Amino acid sequence: MRNTIVIVGFVLAMLAAAWHGATKEDSTAPQAIQDQTSPSYSTAAPSAEPDSPDRSLHHAAATARIEQLKKQELELEKLAEIQEQSHLSRDLLRQAHQYQWTAILRTNQTAFYALLKQAAKAPGGVVPCTICDGKSYMAFCAICNRVDGKCPTCGGSGQASTGKLCPPCGGTGKCFLCSGSGKMLCAFCDDGMIDVKHPLPPRDIP
Ligand SMILES: [Zn+2]
Ligand SMILES: [Zn+2]
Ligand SMILES: [Zn+2]
Repeated sequence: MRNTIVIVGFVLAMLAAAWHGATKEDSTAPQAIQDQTSPSYSTAAPSAEPDSPDRSLHHAAATARIEQLKKQELELEKLAEIQEQSHLSRDLLRQAHQYQWTAILRTNQTAFYALLKQAAKAPGGVVPCTICDGKSYMAFCAICNRVDGKCPTCGGSGQASTGKLCPPCGGTGKCFLCSGSGKMLCAFCDDGMIDVKHPLPPRDIP
């Protein structure tokens, strides 16, 4: 009888152990699967813990960096827009004053080719430019001739009618071709000298 009780007790103990083992496996198995498959598990877990000072600092630095990058991106976009407007508005001014540039080329054409012939025979292939009297700049400007170095679009104020910076001069109020001097670079020479190796004057306003 005592042996029976011992055997029954032993069997019960074994069953209990087996059941415990089974439930333990059952309880861990789904968690292991969840760890691998559920993306929310890994992101939810750290937020349950209180932020350490190090982590808060790191988070604040990352947020500040993102804000800074956004700001830089906006500034670059703004700059690109200004440059685009400046480019387009300068092209419009060039087109509007092209007839003056063409007239300057035509007026000085004979003198220029005569100088070029002289330069070809001269030592070093250069002679002084008599068109600009060797100054390297002309006595006028093809774009602002009538307004003395002022940007023709804003008249020298640097402001556009919208209140923003004037696109062709970028707010300087100066003519972009002569930089406000009213005297543009000589179209024919290189620093006051007619040079056989120098490119011919450009057909369009530079
Ligand atoms: Zn010249
Ligand atoms: Zn202007
Ligand atoms: Zn000018």
